Amino acid sequence: MKTVKLFNTLTRKQENFRPIEAGKVGIYTCGPTVYSYAHIGNMRAYIFADILSRMFTKAGFKVNHIMNITDVGHLVSDGDDGADKMEVAKQREGINAWKVAEKYTKEFFKDCEELHIKKPTTVCKATDHIDQQINMIKRLEEKGFTYTTSDGVYFDTEKFPEYGEMARLDIEGLEQGKRVDLGEKHNKTDFALWKFSPKDEKRDMEWEAPWGEGRKGFPGWHIECSAMSYEYLGKHFDVHTGGIDHIPVHHTNEIAQSECCHDTSPVVNYWLHSNFLNMGDAGKMSKSKGDVFTVSVLEKQGIAPLSYRYLCLTAHYRSEIQFSDEAIHGADKALRRLASQVERLSTITPEENLSDTAKAYETDFIKFITTDLNTAAGLAVMWKMLAAGNISKAEKLSLLKSFDDILAFDIMNLPAYFAKRANNNISEDFKNKVEALITDRKTAREEKDYAKSDAIRDKLVSLGVVIEDSSEGTTWRLK
Ligand code: AMP
Ligand code: ZN
Repeated sequence: MKTVKLFNTLTRKQENFRPIEAGKVGIYTCGPTVYSYAHIGNMRAYIFADILSRMFTKAGFKVNHIMNITDVGHLVSDGDDGADKMEVAKQREGINAWKVAEKYTKEFFKDCEELHIKKPTTVCKATDHIDQQINMIKRLEEKGFTYTTSDGVYFDTEKFPEYGEMARLDIEGLEQGKRVDLGEKHNKTDFALWKFSPKDEKRDMEWEAPWGEGRKGFPGWHIECSAMSYEYLGKHFDVHTGGIDHIPVHHTNEIAQSECCHDTSPVVNYWLHSNFLNMGDAGKMSKSKGDVFTVSVLEKQGIAPLSYRYLCLTAHYRSEIQFSDEAIHGADKALRRLASQVERLSTITPEENLSDTAKAYETDFIKFITTDLNTAAGLAVMWKMLAAGNISKAEKLSLLKSFDDILAFDIMNLPAYFAKRANNNISEDFKNKVEALITDRKTAREEKDYAKSDAIRDKLVSLGVVIEDSSEGTTWRLK
């Protein structure tokens, strides 16, 4: 087991990671809200969670990674007011809320696949865990942490003196505005656990609950993550991830609900937060600000999804990334350079017994990644290793494959990945190259030089080419 160090938002310090159970790690990631396409800013949060999970596996841990899907509409603002996002999407698209959620969940996982984000161990939907959420609210009610208004059940943050500690919220400062627009809420920071459906409206997503005198309702946003993390990881688990915007409200509320419900503190040992992808002066990429890129918009502009993954890895997850044409094209160029280096190494058999010099590169790479996921330094080690004159090509190949456990570019297939994208069809250059290799292989076989013909076949495989021999000759296609 390797030593892992992580920056913990709870303490604002880098700490040595100590698992609750030796050799295992439980991770909960706040997943997407599926009422529209995820933009590449959103996807940064999941690339980060993916690297985290891969890092733990590489460090020798058994990873149990849980991610939720927020498929029940929560309200537009963190302050529990505004129109319900799912209902807005439903009006926009003319399909019911269940279909909206299904459509965008599918789109989300398509993007994940394109970005080589590994599927978590368990993906759980809020709508499949309504009972668990209701049970949790009941327990909070029994313990006196809630009150009911005309539109829902609220968590009374005044009953939890530690409220806002992680976010270092200035509650008194916030409370000075108490009289301004509290409505029926007792405190500015109180939040909805359960909302009643409006009396004159039939919602697609609504459930019976013990509150509201027969009125159906739906859960507030925060309760789903407390309920599902408890369901899959229990009342005390190792790591929780999300974007930094979740610190002041969503995660603050999750902590309040979970700690009060389970009498456990802390519920989560390490809170990890990833920073934003920004659009120049406009600040964070956001659906409400326009100028939003999705993976497929990038693709239409000729940018491979993995080039975006590369861009994310060039920055530390806790630093902002400024998105620009220059930045994304720079990343695209770098990844293509990597692909051509791989192509040059592709006919070589990786070396299993690494020299001490080669091992030092591996040690450095792992040290950077296990020290709060320093992917930028990890990439620098990779480039230095590729340029090194004192290790063999076979060692370089072996190291690349090992680094790819984290980088996840499917490194041996990178040449084919870019060749395929050259012009959506296959470029003439690539076609000529493949045809020439097939002719050379045929000649080698006629001359019974099987070592050579095998080596050529391996080269074709590394280019992503599948060959089929028959009595009529050899045909080929891309994998
Ligand atoms: P949502 O689907 O809106 O709940 O967002 C999903 C994730 O994306 C959350 O973890 C957010 O913190 C994160 N996020 C939203 N906007 C950005 C952005 N511009 N850059 C990076 N992460 C973001
Ligand atoms: Zn959450």
